[in-house]
Amino acid sequence: MLENVKIVLVNTSHTGNIGSAARAMKTMGLSNLVLVDPVQPPDSHSSALAAGATDILGNAKIVSTLAEAIADCELSIAASARSRTLSWPMVDPRECGAKVVSEGKKHKVALVFGRENSGLTNEELQQCQFHVHIPANPDYSSLNLAMAVQTLSYEVRMQFLEQQDKKDEVIETDYPTGEQLEGFYTHLEESLMHTGFMIKQHPGQVIPKLRRLFNRARPDSHELNILRGILTSITKTNK
Ligand code: SAH
Repeated sequence: MLENVKIVLVNTSHTGNIGSAARAMKTMGLSNLVLVDPVQPPDSHSSALAAGATDILGNAKIVSTLAEAIADCELSIAASARSRTLSWPMVDPRECGAKVVSEGKKHKVALVFGRENSGLTNEELQQCQFHVHIPANPDYSSLNLAMAVQTLSYEVRMQFLEQQDKKDEVIETDYPTGEQLEGFYTHLEESLMHTGFMIKQHPGQVIPKLRRLFNRARPDSHELNILRGILTSITKTNK
């Protein structure tokens, strides 16, 4: 199950943090590291801080966008040090661990971490189904990136150990992957432009708000197919 969990670091500036994150992961039994457009790829500084976890660095995948990193994931949770203007479904670290472990039994799941200086952009945050905030000191709530990875990986481990003893309750629902969801949102936007509901020059907040709505409902694969069928029928009858 732990092999289904990806730790995704977006646009990391300090190669040392990549190494420390790899070490944090390995201590908790996680091994899948994905680097989205790192400012610099892992170097000797990363290896020094990874200590015995250089295998994780060696196997790390480098991709250019978050969408690519989570394309095959049916659940993505973004770690955020602060709350944003558009509120999103939140989980606490414990719930995050529980979700990752229960859905990770069947699906690929991702924990997504942001840049050291500016975190994740709103667009990146909106590609994830949930946000998780570590309830740190409100006056000083921003953890070092690798420490945030450690904290959330620990919660995953605790849930993993707890659920190992329990009978396997298999998740029956199939959720769409990140790629399928992005395909749906593109289709939705195109359809709304086509009908004239949205104007290209003034898209406003419609798409982020619809993303939030569908995200809250969390359609399964079958339901998403129905929604896509509806969009196709609208564009067909609206030629
Ligand atoms: N200055 C940035 C914080 C960057 S810390 C900001 O204000 O957004 C680097 C990353 O570590 C964050 O993007 C987030 O993924 C994670 N992180 C740090 N503190 C966190 C916290 N309290 N809860 C959840 N994630 C946190």
